[in-house]
Amino acid sequence: MSAPQAITILGATGSIGTQTLDVIARHPQHFSVFALSAHSNADLLFKQCQAYVPRYAVIGESAYAPLKLRFQQAGLSTQLLCGQQALADIACHQDVSQVVAGIVGGAGLRSIHAAVNAGKRLLLANKESLVMTGELLLQTAQKTGASILPLDSEHNALFQCLPSAQGFREKTLAEAGVAKLLLTGSGGPFRQTPLSELADKTPAEACCHPNWCMGRKISVDSATMMNKGLEYIEAKLLFAAQDSELDIIIHPQSIVHSLVQYRDGTSLAQIGHSDMRVPIAYALSYPKRISSGVGDIDLSQHTLSFESVDYRRYPCLKLAIDLANDNVKTTVMNAANEVAVAAFLAQKIQFGQIYRVVADCVTLDFEGITTINSVDDVLHLDAVARRAAKNSIEHQLNR
Ligand code: NAD
Ligand code: MG
Repeated sequence: MSAPQAITILGATGSIGTQTLDVIARHPQHFSVFALSAHSNADLLFKQCQAYVPRYAVIGESAYAPLKLRFQQAGLSTQLLCGQQALADIACHQDVSQVVAGIVGGAGLRSIHAAVNAGKRLLLANKESLVMTGELLLQTAQKTGASILPLDSEHNALFQCLPSAQGFREKTLAEAGVAKLLLTGSGGPFRQTPLSELADKTPAEACCHPNWCMGRKISVDSATMMNKGLEYIEAKLLFAAQDSELDIIIHPQSIVHSLVQYRDGTSLAQIGHSDMRVPIAYALSYPKRISSGVGDIDLSQHTLSFESVDYRRYPCLKLAIDLANDNVKTTVMNAANEVAVAAFLAQKIQFGQIYRVVADCVTLDFEGITTINSVDDVLHLDAVARRAAKNSIEHQLNR
């Protein structure tokens, strides 16, 4: 029997990270934990290190010193590190087989890039990094031989319903007879809220997703459906889809996780419970299948329904689709959205203002930047756009 594959989990304490550990714990013969990272949740990272004894752990700088002391007192052999370079180091270490990208937002980009640059197999949950870098990350993967397997449930579903050559962008969708990729979206918690009541929804209401239990940022993105907008861009890039080959449909029950419609009238869908351990297990063990801890779905107990998107309700989604082919704008949009969502979660702005901040920023001219050629370019534009988003928030507050 071959040795277990060594896994690095970036963002181990989050929703994706903890569910990845749940799957790994079921298969100690196949996977071992090489490194774990967390930003500030030192208690959980400590417990995870006690349970899995990784070679390395990385924590945000402010929590480093006290956690280091706890590691020493507990006699843990795990080496504790901190800082951006440490995140990149555990992502590209020569002993690592697979890297799970579960950090939320642009903060995950450098470590993801390090993994791709080192030719790793990357299990990508962090869609923001793809939206920021556009073709750049995929071109780097092509050069280094890194493979990118989507963890996002919709993209994982599409990957499962496509031939592998199309799943890995080695051939065009048309060559497989694909007419359209259809992304499903639940519509979030405000699908039926009267439009007049949307503007002042609270963070608690926005984070109360009907089907999925996720981190707070992606939960707000699901309520605005910016999440589906980011996913639209993610799908376009991952599967090299033309505008005419990609569409979105509302499916409130989140049981059909997406569909591939073929030229002959066949639609292939991936169906299952709304539980991220399914796509995580699929990507971890691809091309084999292993148990994920999730049972079969009893379809006799569910009613499936579908409806078209009402873009008046979801202006963030419309904006993302309109900008999808412009990498400079999608980078700005992503940065502005992160800032606006954080301000909304901190109760500085209202739900309805998230769109206004983002829409404001994407119309600006950023020092004449028109192309992105490197990760440094991306991070520079990201930083400038964040400052613009903060200004836009101040401006709105002073109106
Ligand atoms: P989360 O908030 O639950 O967890 C985020 C993780 O990132 C934590 O481990 C945290 O410590 C780490 N982190 C946060 N800020 C950081 C920083 N500045 N530097 C380093 N680490 C930092 O988020 P989540 O729901 O697990 O989402 C993670 C990513 O996966 C997001 O990009 C999200 O869009 C994507 N995703 C999540 C789900 C889901 O079901 N949760 C589904 C699809 C895609
Ligand atoms: Mg998704």
